[in-house]
Amino acid sequence: NNRTFTMIKPDAFKDGHTGAITKMIEDAGFSIKAMKLTQLTSETAGEFYAVHRERPFYNDLCAYMSSGPIVAMILEKDNAVEDFRKLIGATNPADAAEGTIRKIFARSLESNAVHGSDSDENAAIEGSFYFSDLEKI
Ligand code: ATP
Repeated sequence: NNRTFTMIKPDAFKDGHTGAITKMIEDAGFSIKAMKLTQLTSETAGEFYAVHRERPFYNDLCAYMSSGPIVAMILEKDNAVEDFRKLIGATNPADAAEGTIRKIFARSLESNAVHGSDSDENAAIEGSFYFSDLEKI
């Protein structure tokens, strides 16, 4: 499959990195198929991260993800899910490789600049969470 889903998280948006992150994504060969500036509530963040409901950081994650605007995108490229996770780097920016988006822009393990889907199935679910058919190409 050739699509993935990403969010520029509240820290990176607040820090003014939306343009630079989007440029890195396009320079890496991804094309933007849908794009939206929006803000989650703690309830909608909870739905988005429902798979993490049992994790100890779930409540903090929902509070953080609803703390400011986010930019949601559907991206297309061959091998999109895997290649995008390589581009963003490890979840904890301290472990992320040089040159990855998280290494460059993330503040911390929680405020880690971007989200990237972890499977083709989740990419489709997460894209549909934000975008109707009319809102994507
Ligand atoms: P994402 O799903 O955002 O792409 P990921 O798949 O790399 O990230 P997950 O393990 O799915 O990481 O965790 C989801 C998000 O929860 C992380 O991106 C991070 O913001 C936050 N998170 C993960 N682990 C912790 C933790 N131990 N403490 C606080 N926040 C965490």
